[in-house]
Amino acid sequence: MDVPTYSAEDAPIPTGEIVIERASTAQDLGPRLNRTAADVVRFLLTNGEMVTATQSLTDDMIMMFADDIGAEIKLVDPGEEQEVELRKLLEFDDEDDDEIVDSWPTRPPVITVMGHVDHGKTLLLDKIRSANVVDGEAGGITQHIGAYQIERDGKSLTFLDTPGHEAFTSMRARGADVTDIVVLVVAADDGVMPQTLEALDHAKAAEVPIIVAINKMDREGANPDRVMTQLSERGLVPEAWGGDAIMVPLSAMTGDGVDDLIDNLNLVAEVEDMRATPEGRAAGSVLEAHLDIGRGPVATVLVERGTLNVGDPLVAGAAWGRVRALVNDRGERIESALPSTPVQVLGLNEVAEAGDTFVIAPNEKMASKVADTREHWQRLASLGRDASATSGGAKLEDIFKQIQAGEAATLNLIVKADVNGSLEAVCDSLKKRERDDVKLAFVLRGVGGITENDVQLAAASNATILGFNVRPDRKARELAEQEKVEIRNYEIIYKLLEDIENAMLGLLEPEYEEVVTGEAEVREIFRVPRIGSIAGCMVTSGVITRGSKVRFLREGTIIWKGSIQSLKRFKDDAQEVAAGFECGIGLSDFQDLKEGDVIETYEEREIPIE
Ligand code: GDP
Repeated sequence: MDVPTYSAEDAPIPTGEIVIERASTAQDLGPRLNRTAADVVRFLLTNGEMVTATQSLTDDMIMMFADDIGAEIKLVDPGEEQEVELRKLLEFDDEDDDEIVDSWPTRPPVITVMGHVDHGKTLLLDKIRSANVVDGEAGGITQHIGAYQIERDGKSLTFLDTPGHEAFTSMRARGADVTDIVVLVVAADDGVMPQTLEALDHAKAAEVPIIVAINKMDREGANPDRVMTQLSERGLVPEAWGGDAIMVPLSAMTGDGVDDLIDNLNLVAEVEDMRATPEGRAAGSVLEAHLDIGRGPVATVLVERGTLNVGDPLVAGAAWGRVRALVNDRGERIESALPSTPVQVLGLNEVAEAGDTFVIAPNEKMASKVADTREHWQRLASLGRDASATSGGAKLEDIFKQIQAGEAATLNLIVKADVNGSLEAVCDSLKKRERDDVKLAFVLRGVGGITENDVQLAAASNATILGFNVRPDRKARELAEQEKVEIRNYEIIYKLLEDIENAMLGLLEPEYEEVVTGEAEVREIFRVPRIGSIAGCMVTSGVITRGSKVRFLREGTIIWKGSIQSLKRFKDDAQEVAAGFECGIGLSDFQDLKEGDVIETYEEREIPIE
């Protein structure tokens, strides 16, 4: 192998894939690869990266070094390796999560409602809930805690009441695979729409059974056959047509057919044979979390196994605490919660993150230890991300620096809008504002929300993302933060144009005006060995300041421009000398001084662009 000249060059490079944590320092990295920290620092230095041995390195730097010495590495987030150890500390075996034991009691299915916007997800969830209050007590206080449980024919069902596939996927992305059955809502009068298909894809990816609720059957234009045809084309063939997809026509408004949907959900749950043990310490997922002024950090969790009790030492990600109180979806305080029960947990030390898993630790000490360790690693991970984010997208205001550096000023843009019409309007109006000195480049124009892909593209192409009537999704937001990509959202077109124009004004070469700050007359010339000529002066106006810019005038003509190198009052160095005082001035490389010459100092001030 061709190993370059390193101090530890004789040491063989470890073979195989070496796991390196993001944000490692040269001190961490070197020894892992049989090199010294100095090797790493020196290598980076020769590649134009100045780092100290104890400074976190970016992913790029780590990869560059590894590549150079021919080591094969895998970058992991700090804490990823430790997490395995932490789970061991918690004495929790994740392995048997998938295993289901026949002797366990059945548990309620966990149901997520998805579908196109306005197809009736929220109304359906409300209807199901209000029609099936567990104890039938009308007027009971219902609480929106992110999920609720109903009972029908003695069987319980749990509904997550944050509709939308965004929540669903982001939960799944974070490892919280809590949904057992997806209800896909399709409005009978509207048919299959883009988000219907998206929801379908997400449900398929999660490999959970899907039940279609053909909603708004009370509407005049309701056409369930069309919905069935459209879905059949996508592989969901209704039972009525010989397929195996359950489709239930209903109206979330009138309530017709809602019972039928619930019966079908119970049926699917039975077939799927969902079981969980109520024995042992509880574990599950965080569905929602927030800070409540009166109650402190509140987390809604879904128990997935075991029994959660008041007083249990709970760890959820980097948050922990002894459970002070459990509150159910009707606002009642309860002592314990069984599998598939959504419940609010009070008593955590900080706000947990939705999608985090929680476990009950063997004891409080262990809970705090695990949470604190995770917090430490999370901090490190974010450090690495910050350090890696030196490139990333462009900020509008940064364009100004670009031209100052004498680079061609091009504003790279990714424009996303709600519909084609507005997209064209935005792009056309932007194009009209292009100027000779500032070019606009559309890296991408598209219809739809701002996605992770857009952010990736922006980071790669140094672009700013403009959203018109669209928003970035959560993942896009997170990635943008990580990659330092600027996303600007607008709802008013002139505001968008105004901002771009302002940015382009910032792109203008700044104009300067010169302001004279002081004037001194040369009265006497002193020759100082090894230093040269010093002008003995009288300050006639303003203030002469060391380091300031100078015009050297002889009979009103500028004969030299430079700066003041030394300034003395008698024998002492002075920072500044005011009018009426004598001083000695040394000019950088100008020696041709004559009595009667004038030294004028001035400052350049930027003229703000109107
Ligand atoms: P979401 O965006 O999917 O949560 O939809 P919503 O539940 O907010 O419903 C959107 C609109 O459709 C609301 O005005 C509802 O009142 C209405 N809607 C929902 N379901 C039905 C239904 O079965 N029949 C009728 N006529 N209107 C419905």
